[in-house]
Amino acid sequence: SPSALADTGSPLTAAAVQTAAPPVIEVRELHKAYGPLEVLKGVTLTAPRGHVVSLIGSSGSGKSTLLRCLNLLEFSQQGEIMFEGEAVRWRGTGHARQPADRAQVTRFRTNLSMVFQQFNLWAHMTVLQNVMEAPLTVLRQPRAEVEPRARALLDKVGIGDKAEAWPAQLSGGQQQRAAIARALCMQPRALLFDEPTSALDPELQQEVVKVIKDLAGEHRTMVLVTHDMRLAADVSDHVVFLHKGRIEEEGPPAQLFGAPRTDRLRQFLSASM
Ligand code: ADP
Ligand code: MG
Repeated sequence: SPSALADTGSPLTAAAVQTAAPPVIEVRELHKAYGPLEVLKGVTLTAPRGHVVSLIGSSGSGKSTLLRCLNLLEFSQQGEIMFEGEAVRWRGTGHARQPADRAQVTRFRTNLSMVFQQFNLWAHMTVLQNVMEAPLTVLRQPRAEVEPRARALLDKVGIGDKAEAWPAQLSGGQQQRAAIARALCMQPRALLFDEPTSALDPELQQEVVKVIKDLAGEHRTMVLVTHDMRLAADVSDHVVFLHKGRIEEEGPPAQLFGAPRTDRLRQFLSASM
C-alpha cells in the first residue's frame, strides 16, 4: 500500500526527469480577463517534474489569478493548460470558454493541491480530520489507509502532537503547517502555494519556510507565489517576474536576483528586499 510519502520525487537528476516525462504543468499563452479588465496577457510557464517555479511581482500583477486558472478554479479565455502532457479540453470561446470534460477537471484538480495565504482549515474539525477529509470524501480512500498517512504528514510538518487539537488552538504557523499536511495528504502531482507566509508574523514565517524548503529538497513539483525573496532565491529552480499580467523577466534565481536586466525588476526588488 502506498506510504505517506509515496509521491516524493525519486533521486533522479533534473535532466533525467525532464527527458523521461512531460512537464507536470505547462501553460501556453494564457489570457484571462474579468470583464474588460485584462489580468493575464499571454503567460507561458512550465513546471517540470521535481522543479520549484516561483512567481514574484507586485500586488495586482496577476499571480493569484494565474494559480486559480492553473487549478481550473477560474477559466481562462485563451491559451492552453497541460498536465503531464494532457491538454485541458475546452468548449466555447472567449468569456464563454469552459472545460468540456468535468471528469477531466476533477482529475486535474485532485492532482494539484493548493495552499492559500489564509489557511482555511475547517473550524469544526480537528487538525487530523482536516487532513483526512478530502482523501476520505473526494478520493474515497479507506480510513485505514488515510489515517496513518495523515498522522505521518503531521509529524513531518512538526505538529504530530496537535492531531486531536482544534484549529483555533493552533498558532498561525501551526495552522499553515496543518494546511500543508492537508494538501500533501491528497498525494498531488504538484503543489501550488499562494503567499503561504504572508499572513504570518515574521517569527512564525520561518517554521513554514522550513517546511517548504524540506518539500523542495524532496524534489516536489511546486509553483510558489511568494513575497519572500529570500525563500524564492533559496528554493527555486526558476523564477518568473510578473508585471501587469505579462512575464517581464524570468530565469534561474541567481540571474533574477543577482543580475536583473529590466528596470521594472530592479525597482521591484529594491522595494521588496
Ligand atoms: P496578485 O495575486 O498578483 O496580487 P491578482 O491575481 O489577485 O493579483 O489580481 C490581478 C488583478 O485582477 C487585480 O487588478 C485584481 O483586482 C483583479 N481581480 C482579481 N480577481 C478578480 C475578480 N474575481 N473579479 C474582478 N477582478 C479581479
Ligand atoms: Mg495574490
